[in-house]
Amino acid sequence: MLKQSSDLREKLHSIDRKGYSAYKSLHGSYAWGQYTLHVDHVQSDPFAPPSRMRVRVDQKLAGLPVELYANKTRKVAVEDFLTRQFASAIGQKAGNKKGSGKSGVFDIDRCGQEILERTAMVVNEDYVEARFVIGLPAKGRTVMAKEAASMFFDVLPQVVNMSLMYQNLDVQRLKKHVEIAEDQDFMRLELAKRGLETFIGNGAILPRESGICDRPLKDEKVVPFRSPQELEVSFKLPNSGTVTGMGITSGVTLIVGGGYHGKSTLLRAIERGVYNHIPGDGREMVVTNEGAVKIRAEDGRSVTKVDISAFISELPYEQDTSVFSSDNASGSTSQAANIVEALEVGSDLLLLDEDTSATNFMIRDGRMQLLVAKENEPITPFIDRVCELSDRFGVSTILVVGGSGDYFEVADRVIMMHKYSPRDVTTEAKGIAESHQSERTAEVKCQLTAVRKRAPKPQSFKLDPKGKVKAKGLNNIIFGRVDIDLTQVEQLVDSSQTNAIAEILRYCAIQYVDGERQISEIIDKVLDDINTKELDVISPFRGQHPGDIALPRKHEIAAAFNRFRKLRIVQV
Ligand code: ADP
Ligand code: MG
Repeated sequence: MLKQSSDLREKLHSIDRKGYSAYKSLHGSYAWGQYTLHVDHVQSDPFAPPSRMRVRVDQKLAGLPVELYANKTRKVAVEDFLTRQFASAIGQKAGNKKGSGKSGVFDIDRCGQEILERTAMVVNEDYVEARFVIGLPAKGRTVMAKEAASMFFDVLPQVVNMSLMYQNLDVQRLKKHVEIAEDQDFMRLELAKRGLETFIGNGAILPRESGICDRPLKDEKVVPFRSPQELEVSFKLPNSGTVTGMGITSGVTLIVGGGYHGKSTLLRAIERGVYNHIPGDGREMVVTNEGAVKIRAEDGRSVTKVDISAFISELPYEQDTSVFSSDNASGSTSQAANIVEALEVGSDLLLLDEDTSATNFMIRDGRMQLLVAKENEPITPFIDRVCELSDRFGVSTILVVGGSGDYFEVADRVIMMHKYSPRDVTTEAKGIAESHQSERTAEVKCQLTAVRKRAPKPQSFKLDPKGKVKAKGLNNIIFGRVDIDLTQVEQLVDSSQTNAIAEILRYCAIQYVDGERQISEIIDKVLDDINTKELDVISPFRGQHPGDIALPRKHEIAAAFNRFRKLRIVQV
């Protein structure tokens, strides 16, 4: 029979001032009037990660109208909203931490500017469930029962009441949250139908508060986005009427303009447009083809058997670049590998910024071609591949270049940023390209061929019996003893996504890595499992408490595979 909250009170009373391990006896489920509390995992000491718990409220009591979670997009958005509410209620009701270590910590997964599918909250026809952590209070290493009781009997019921009961929510804000997510998904689907790669709505606020803060820049000098007339397109949205803004069609698009005029800011907004954003973010009406991948130079990364011969061939001393491996790739080889790997998992939109590209990978000008003969230059620069990618493989590129007019020739469209506002300067740029002949000649030695698929070998992922797989913040995963560095994977946005990728690597290694399946197939299989079951499926805490996982994209999962320094590959 289900225990009662009074049982928990008695238990707490009986373990007061005992050794910390006495808390273990709290494990179990308790009926709590309006909800059920599940104590899934009790921490072993005050300094260990805090204890994992869930609260489940019957939907009859929570009372969320079914239309709020009637489809996947809505469900994700409603769960996102409730998670934020829960966090904010904790902020208001949970006082200062008292006691040693993690005593008094009360937390739920923190959401950023994106609306992501998360395991922290579940909303369905039967119930609403929040998964959170509590640091059970201790003085030194002894139980502080009174403080613990206060968390369970004073704070938690208020938090639940404020955040999981429909009648206590700001219903208008919730509705807007859900509808705006639905509008963004709608536009993203619509892009493909109209041959567009990205859309930036008029009035969007693109600059961010700072390099380390993703909130919108609030400043009287902020220039809201305004599309040039020539590039204007409109969408009739399911919920928010008609929106107008700049559409960038498939093909090769350049973003040019003087330094500090907002080029990189525009590109970054486009990069993030693969995710839905919350109301008030400024980028709610910025959406991009889901398959967009930011490509940059990443010297120092490891590369395992990638065929980069389309970009780099005939390295000194006959290193074979069709199975290129390196523990310490250069700027250009890493950028080439990043492209090939993106194509390998099906990206059809590449985003490049000159600020983070290897110059010699992007261009070789006429004079340099005269001095260093093609025979002595291993690199086929991107400028000589970009049209082929678009024409023969349907892979579009959006490229920030302030420095090289040679790109005018290969561009379908040229957008100039001037004082943070875009202009369509395609005609002028094409005119200049015609009247001022470029000094350079195209240097393609061979046709671009389809990307060769690679299958990871199972032995790559063998763990010692004590081996751990764990994310460390946004940018690192420890797999056994190997650190996977994701610092330069710019479209990874949330540390809970990194948690997910760590779990996915472990999950794949057990389930799907067999030496024959390719990286792309393996990831599809996991994403399939997640889709047909739930996001919990990748977690060892499945069904109990995987409270800190957010869904990553296929591309960021692949990025982790590809940066794993123990990866062993069969090229197929
Ligand atoms: P570029 O890549 O052209 O050199 P950036 O995109 O890096 O320029 O922008 C330069 C600075 O201008 C940044 O500090 C950025 O936050 C700011 N900025 C960008 N767009 C806007 C805007 N629309 N309104 C106000 N400031 C902006
Ligand atoms: Mg820049």
